[in-house]
Amino acid sequence: MSEPEKQFADFLRSKGLKFTPERREILRKIFATHEHFDVETLFEKLKKGGERISLATIYRLVPLLIESGMIRQATRCEGHVTYEHVFGHKLHYHLVCVRCGKIIEFRDEGIERLLMQVCDKYDFTVIDHRLGVRGICSACREE
Ligand SMILES: [Zn+2]
Ligand SMILES: [Zn+2]
Ligand SMILES: [Zn+2]
Repeated sequence: MSEPEKQFADFLRSKGLKFTPERREILRKIFATHEHFDVETLFEKLKKGGERISLATIYRLVPLLIESGMIRQATRCEGHVTYEHVFGHKLHYHLVCVRCGKIIEFRDEGIERLLMQVCDKYDFTVIDHRLGVRGICSACREE
């Protein structure tokens, strides 16, 4: 079993849930690449691979994957939600193009430092934070 599989299997066990072959297949597909993904694309990929997993099964699994700390919501743009791995990834931020849906990831120590200063000022303990900027990418702007 891969690390994400082990961790997720442990989580499911702690909730009294089974790591079914379907759940394993979905998890494998998600961790086969490091890209951001949405549920519909994931469903199409599984279908192409010959898996008979319903869209509803994937939708039901997503909250468990989030709760277990495997994935998180990456972006929400015009009602379109994408997810990404938490497991094995460093904190980063997103620029989202509203025309083509492209997502640019970036890290910036200046922003991280600034956020820490703000939290210090308000004596606030950070659990999670995210930053997403909606806009138009250079390729779309040239059109
Ligand atoms: Zn990854
Ligand atoms: Zn674009
Ligand atoms: Zn990301």
